[in-house]
Amino acid sequence: MVPPREMASLVESGKQVIDEGRITEALRASREPDESRLADLLAKARERKGLSLTEVADLVHLRRPEHVQALYEAAAEVKQRIYGDRVVLFAPLYVSNECVGNCLYCGFRRDNRDLKRQTLTQEEIASEVLWLIEHGYKRLLLVYGETPRNGVASMVEAVQTVYATHSGAGEIRRVNINAAPLSHEDFKALQPAGIGTYQVFQETYHRETYARMHPCGPKADYDWRVTVWDRCIPAGIDDVGLGVLLGLTDWRWDLLALLDHARYLDETYGVGPHTISVPRLEPAFNTPLATNPPAPVSDDEFRKIVAIVRLAVPYTGIIMSTRESPDMRRECLRLGVSQISAGSRVSPGGYAEVDAEENADFDEAQFKVGDHRGLDEIMRDLCDQGYLPSFCTACYRAGRTGPDFMALAKPGEIHNFCLPNALLTFKEYLLDYATPETRAAGEKVIWDNLDKVEDEQVRRVAEERLAALDAGQRDVYF
Ligand code: SAM
Ligand code: SF4
Repeated sequence: MVPPREMASLVESGKQVIDEGRITEALRASREPDESRLADLLAKARERKGLSLTEVADLVHLRRPEHVQALYEAAAEVKQRIYGDRVVLFAPLYVSNECVGNCLYCGFRRDNRDLKRQTLTQEEIASEVLWLIEHGYKRLLLVYGETPRNGVASMVEAVQTVYATHSGAGEIRRVNINAAPLSHEDFKALQPAGIGTYQVFQETYHRETYARMHPCGPKADYDWRVTVWDRCIPAGIDDVGLGVLLGLTDWRWDLLALLDHARYLDETYGVGPHTISVPRLEPAFNTPLATNPPAPVSDDEFRKIVAIVRLAVPYTGIIMSTRESPDMRRECLRLGVSQISAGSRVSPGGYAEVDAEENADFDEAQFKVGDHRGLDEIMRDLCDQGYLPSFCTACYRAGRTGPDFMALAKPGEIHNFCLPNALLTFKEYLLDYATPETRAAGEKVIWDNLDKVEDEQVRRVAEERLAALDAGQRDVYF
C-alpha cells in the first residue's frame, strides 16, 4: 500500500519527527507512580491499546520491587495474549564490514585499522546462505557497514542471490536488511527485490550525544537518519524496524524518544514499526568506548525497558539478538521479546568459514556475542521452556505487511495464521534439520500446541498439513 503522505512532501527535518523538547518536558514532569496510578497504568496497558508518552515517562521511574514485579506480570500477560508461546528465529548474515563511518562504539569503525575488511562476493554470499539453509534457517537479516560499495544495486543483487540459493527443499523465505538509511529513490529500487523489514537503529535520539558518537561520514547527519522512514514507507517498504543502542545516553530519554518515533509513524502512515530492537552496547575490538559505555544499562533496567516496550506498543515485534546471554534472553522472552537471532556469526563469511559451534574470533566480530549456542540447541531449549519456535514467513509472502498486517493483528485475527504457521514451519525444521533429541522435544510441543488452535476448521486443516509434511510436502502455510 502507498501511504497517504506522498513523496512530493518528503520530510527532511528531524524536528518534524521527534519533538525533543516534548520528551525532555515529559521526563521532567514525570514521577514514580503511586499504588493507584500504577494500577491504572497497568490496567490500561492490559487492554493492549498501548501507552502515551507521559504514561511511559512515569513507568520508567518504577523502583520498588513489588511495583517492578507488577510491571513484569502485565507485560508477560500482554505478550502471552498477543504472541502466545511462539518465538520467531532468524540469523544475521554480515555482508560487509567495510565502513566509512567512525561510530565510537562499533568494531567496524573506520579507525579500527587492525580489522580485516571484507565485502562478500555473490559467490561468498551464496556459500553463507547455503550453510544457513542446511542448518534449517528460513529467515535472514543482511547486515552492512556503510560505504558507497554497499549501495542499493549491491543490496538488490545480494537479496536475489539469497532467494536464488537452494539446497534440496531448503531455502530462505524472508530477507530483512540492517543498513544505512537510503534515499527515497534507492528505497524504490530496493522494493521490488522483495525484502521483509528494513532496519535502521537511530542509536540515540539525543542530538548532542548523537553528534559526539558519530563524528564523521554520512552517519553524522542526524536528520537524514531520523527521517529514514519518511523516504522508505512512501517507497512501498512498510515493514520497518526501529532501535536504539542502549548505553550511549540516559536510557529513559532514548526510550521515550523511540516510542514517540513509533507514535509518529502510526499517526503519519497508519502503521507503527513492525519491529523494535533493543541492542545493548557490547565490548568491541579496538573500541574503547564500547568497553566503557557512557551510560551503562544494568540488567534490571534492561528488563524494565523490554517490559515497557511490550506494554507501550503491544503489536510491534521486539527483537533480541545474541548480544545478550542465554539467561537474559530466556527472561526477556517472557517479558515481551517475540523474535530472537540464533547461532549468529557477526563478521562477513563467519558461517561458511568456521564451524558454528566454535566462538567467532573477537578481533573479526562487530561486537562480543553473549549467546554462543547453535540453532538446534536453542530450539531445544525453547521447547524445554514451553515455547514454540517458528520460522513463519507467511504474512510477508501473502502480502500481509504494514497496515494490512496491523489490521489483522490488532483484532487478534492474526492468531488464525500465526499459530498454525508456526506449527508447520517448526515441523519442517524437525523433519529436515533437527537432532533426534530436539525432534523428540519438538514433536511434543507441536501436538500440545495443535490443541490450542481455537478454530476447529483451521485445526483440522493444520493437522492435515502436518501429515502432508510427514509425507514429504514442504512449504505449506496459511
Ligand atoms: N552500518 C549500518 C548502521 O550503522 O546503521 C548498519 C549495520 S550496524 C553493523 C548494526 C547495528 O549494530 C548498529 O545500528 C548498532 O546499533 C549496533 N552496534 C554497533 N556497535 C555495537 C556494539 N559495540 N555493541 C552492540 N551493538 C552495536
Ligand atoms: Fe559503520 Fe554502522 Fe558500525 Fe557505524 S555502526 S561503524 S556505520 S557499521
